[in-house]
Amino acid sequence: MKIKVGLGYDIHRLEEGRRLFLGGVEIDFAKGLRGHSDGDCLIHAIIDALLGAAGKEDIGQHFPDSDPQYKDMRSTELLERVMDLMREGKTEVLNVDSIVIAEKPKLGPYIPQMKETLGPILGVDQDDFGIKAKTNEGMGAIGEGDAIAAWAQVLVREKQ
Ligand code: MG
Repeated sequence: MKIKVGLGYDIHRLEEGRRLFLGGVEIDFAKGLRGHSDGDCLIHAIIDALLGAAGKEDIGQHFPDSDPQYKDMRSTELLERVMDLMREGKTEVLNVDSIVIAEKPKLGPYIPQMKETLGPILGVDQDDFGIKAKTNEGMGAIGEGDAIAAWAQVLVREKQ
């Protein structure tokens, strides 16, 4: 049995006229995240953390943005596919911690719903799943409301 960590990061631009999805939850806001899929940078960071822990290539290699089949796909669907890969590798997730950095909107009220949405897909209980929301204190592209970023770290157990 092997215990491994994985680290993931993602950032997407905010733009008018798109729906905002974060942590698998639709959030009421005037802008959404630009992306080939739904732009959910929290899920993308979690996916990269999982793939990293499993020693696999990153999200861009698994789901290339040049491939029309992933256009506007919900990131929850991408996460489900990555979890299938993890199960094929006899890898289970022990816990997940994450941070979303967004100046606006206020994400705190949505965190319970994000955990309820992603926890069952990841196979982790609420106690083994952290999502924290921070601002960038008004600095840089995130602080000016032009982008939202996310970090995620996972701990997995590989049964041999
Ligand atoms: Mg992304």
